[in-house]
Amino acid sequence: MPTSDLAKTVFWRSEWPKDSDDCLNCYVNIGSTIQSDIHITLLENSLAPNQDKFRYGRLVKPDCIDFQTIKNWWSNCRQYHGQGCLRTPSHVVLPPLSAEVRTAFRVIDVKEKTVIPASPDSDYVALSYVWGKPKPERTFRQAFLDPLPANLSQAQILTLNMEEIPRTIRDAIDVVEKLGEHYLWVDALCIFQDDVSQKIQMIGIMDRIYRQAILTIIAAGGDNSDSGLGGLQPRSRNVEQVVGTICDQRIIKLSTRVGTLLNASSWSSRAWTYQEEHFSKFKLIFVGDRVFYQCPSAVGWSEDVTEYVHTDRKPKIKSNINYASEWPFDAVSNYITHVEQYTTRQLSFPDDILNAFTGIIQEYSQTHHTEFCWGLPKRDFTSALLWRDNWHGLRAYKPHLLKSDKPGLQRRHPSSDATPKLPSWSWAGWEGHVHLPFLSTPGYAPLDINWEWESTESPIAHEALLNDGVITFTAELAELEPHSMDVDHGALRTDDGSLWTQGKNAFVLLASFSRPMRYIEGAENVESRTCVVMMLQPREKDRFHRKGLMVCADSQWNAAKPETHVVHLA
Ligand SMILES: [Zn+2]
Repeated sequence: MPTSDLAKTVFWRSEWPKDSDDCLNCYVNIGSTIQSDIHITLLENSLAPNQDKFRYGRLVKPDCIDFQTIKNWWSNCRQYHGQGCLRTPSHVVLPPLSAEVRTAFRVIDVKEKTVIPASPDSDYVALSYVWGKPKPERTFRQAFLDPLPANLSQAQILTLNMEEIPRTIRDAIDVVEKLGEHYLWVDALCIFQDDVSQKIQMIGIMDRIYRQAILTIIAAGGDNSDSGLGGLQPRSRNVEQVVGTICDQRIIKLSTRVGTLLNASSWSSRAWTYQEEHFSKFKLIFVGDRVFYQCPSAVGWSEDVTEYVHTDRKPKIKSNINYASEWPFDAVSNYITHVEQYTTRQLSFPDDILNAFTGIIQEYSQTHHTEFCWGLPKRDFTSALLWRDNWHGLRAYKPHLLKSDKPGLQRRHPSSDATPKLPSWSWAGWEGHVHLPFLSTPGYAPLDINWEWESTESPIAHEALLNDGVITFTAELAELEPHSMDVDHGALRTDDGSLWTQGKNAFVLLASFSRPMRYIEGAENVESRTCVVMMLQPREKDRFHRKGLMVCADSQWNAAKPETHVVHLA
């Protein structure tokens, strides 16, 4: 919109308080479309110098970022945000790391342009970005000037070949140098990609790596590692700001919010970046040719908005984080959210489905003292089995995340015969968005089932995945027909999206929940229950595969005369 037209198109939400210095938001009508995400505020320069400048508009350098702004954010966070923005609050005790993991940890020395061994407790900045190219192994050896030793774990100092390093990583090295810091952690260079055991060790502490970083640079402006950090170098962006004058006050249209920009980015569609974002506490976000800062006390400082910078008194901004519960997070309630959000993400390599979720699993394991079995916590195993396809939910609320134009999930196939098939009962064994709808249903209760696992699975070690993922349990089994099912709680759709229309099928009972009281005139009013049942498909060696999850009335279940059986589910 041309600057001169701005004043004509503004519709004030309320009367303009001419002598007020409050920040005003208003709606703008462009043509016939109301764009409610457009925010206009007073321009900083229009105020008297001694006025509070919190949340006023600011002019930015059009062709590159003013790095002093970034330095100010970071120093303000460290100086004034207090306990909430400490890297490791005093009450936090980090779990000890093994000697092997400590030895394997490496960082980039940004001054010397080398990769060196370092303590995981040292001050380092981490990078979160989209690789978007062939596997990092191909780039790894080219990234060093030194000949790599046969035994990589013995390598001490390796000099980087800067010309061979993707631009986003080069830019991140530049940011760390400009901030006056020394070390940067980047997965593609600090994890020795040829060394499988070291790679497994590092994947296993990914939550720790991002949680303990003094800052995470989030490169969300492109779709590959050569996209760079927009605005970092001169003439690497072209920002236009819309400024106008109303009632003698200079006003400015603010840029799109950081959350909106991130939601639309390729970075936030990737599986690996999910836990990187979750664990990072201090984020310098490059997206949409802009830079933003987020920390527990700042929801999103932006270049074009003045932040709170009082240095002569305590800041007004208070974090809404409850520090006492900050570590560990309340992982039980978060598990469902994590699975539901994570399964909207995309992976380049299907074998990574649990690797890229390892940090979340670690958090839950440590908080609740439980092991995991193929992405499901053993402690709440029956509940965790009750996932379903959420294609319809995604289509209604987040259609841009849909991976398929048809409902249903697709089996996730391993990349080679050497990699085991993921079990059918785990959400990790399927591609597509899932949700766990029954867990918040009033009266929901999982059945008390004794689960046995053929072997304990560690989500980290690929070698440990080399079992066939069979679980064994004793439960009620019955055969049902389509007319027995409660279609109010979902159509007769199986996991792969096909409709079950006729014939008997075997089901196993997993949970139940109460239904509204039935009021029948003249009869005794009793509460009935609805059964959550898993549809089974017979496979080889007395084993079943999961085929779907459905519900039926307990009267229908009992009418089918269920019998107790030992079930092997693969
Ligand atoms: Zn802070």
